[in-house]
Amino acid sequence: MNYDTLFQNALDGLRADGSYRYFAELERHVGRFPKAFHHGVGRDVTVWCSNDYLGMGQHPAVLEAIHKSLDESGAGAGGTRNISGTNHHHVLLEKELASLHGKESALLFNSGYLSNWVTLGTLAARLKGCVVLSDELNHASMIEGIRHSRAEKRIFRHNDLEDLEARLKELPLDTPKIIAFESVYSMNGDIAPIEEICDLADRYNAMTYLDEVHAVGMYGPQGGGVAQERGLEHRLTVIEGTLGKAYGVVGGYIAASAALCDFVRSFGSGFIFSTSLPPMIAAGVLASVRHLRHSDAERKGQREAVALLRKKLDEVKIPYMPGQSHITPVMVGDATLCRELTDSLLKRFGHYLQPINYPTVPRGTERLRLTPGPLHTEEELTSLVSALDTLWTELKLPRSEA
Ligand SMILES: *Cc1c(COP(=O)(O)O)cnc(C)c1O
Repeated sequence: MNYDTLFQNALDGLRADGSYRYFAELERHVGRFPKAFHHGVGRDVTVWCSNDYLGMGQHPAVLEAIHKSLDESGAGAGGTRNISGTNHHHVLLEKELASLHGKESALLFNSGYLSNWVTLGTLAARLKGCVVLSDELNHASMIEGIRHSRAEKRIFRHNDLEDLEARLKELPLDTPKIIAFESVYSMNGDIAPIEEICDLADRYNAMTYLDEVHAVGMYGPQGGGVAQERGLEHRLTVIEGTLGKAYGVVGGYIAASAALCDFVRSFGSGFIFSTSLPPMIAAGVLASVRHLRHSDAERKGQREAVALLRKKLDEVKIPYMPGQSHITPVMVGDATLCRELTDSLLKRFGHYLQPINYPTVPRGTERLRLTPGPLHTEEELTSLVSALDTLWTELKLPRSEA
């Protein structure tokens, strides 16, 4: 049996339907973000699709904390949390995250993906008869966690309160339930009706599980996310976040009651049996979280960049999905065109945007996803929009009406 042929056949399938993934080999340089050296084209490019939304990946306070901890504590944690791998900085960081969200406790994971996978997997599997109500656009890490739990799952239409309520009504009041959803949906840039979902959860005896991965650091007076911005943190059972996007480093966490965190700590296999984050990472993240709790400059800079980008797109009538978040999806609607567009942007104009194609989004809704931040200059924004304007004409893409 030639196994590699089997692998190749499957990969050929991806290539045939345009969903094969090509990675851009970048070299980030401190002080130059959002510029990075692109090895594929051999030059510096401006990055428009980074999740290092606020440039915290190169922030001096973060780098200093990492350097200091590296020199003091060495490279790795040296164990799982249970067996010698709980470092002082892990504990400090968990306390900081709990306080950030106004919760009793927080629990660290090696990534946001793991935090969703382990927490939903553990809660749904261990609570007898638990049913999970899941927004249809939820991230893969939530979907996989729920699948792994083998609990019953009901998918509700995206941000649709009526559909969610109809599904809640079908279930007995004393059945344990989890409503799993996100605040900012990263592909559409829209935001969930968090308060109304919490109202439904109260009425039907459900827990609420909110993924704030694309919101922590960026929304709320201290960067606690959309729930913090709207004064709703106390109404959510679990708030989940990443330390790898706006916080600029790596890792994930949940913030919740002491009992719930202890439950996941004690039963979650993906938490228990994996080496904990290096102490320097915890120290760097701690510096990042603390910085964004008292500094609003990065959030303000991001909002200004987003507003300016949208104004410039309006001026040349390039259609985008308007939304309340920092994410601006520009619709292309065709996988091949989307790739042609990003190839030209890169090779001719030095702007790097990853095309967002199936299966990340449904076919026919292929798009660009623009995430300008406080470090993008007006000159870079002007240059990007002018390149898009040129390519829009060359590729005969539709303009907006107004
Ligand atoms: C990126 C992402 C995650 C995973 O977070 P990582 O820290 O990157 O593993 C979880 N949820 C959503 C909505 C995401 O976009």
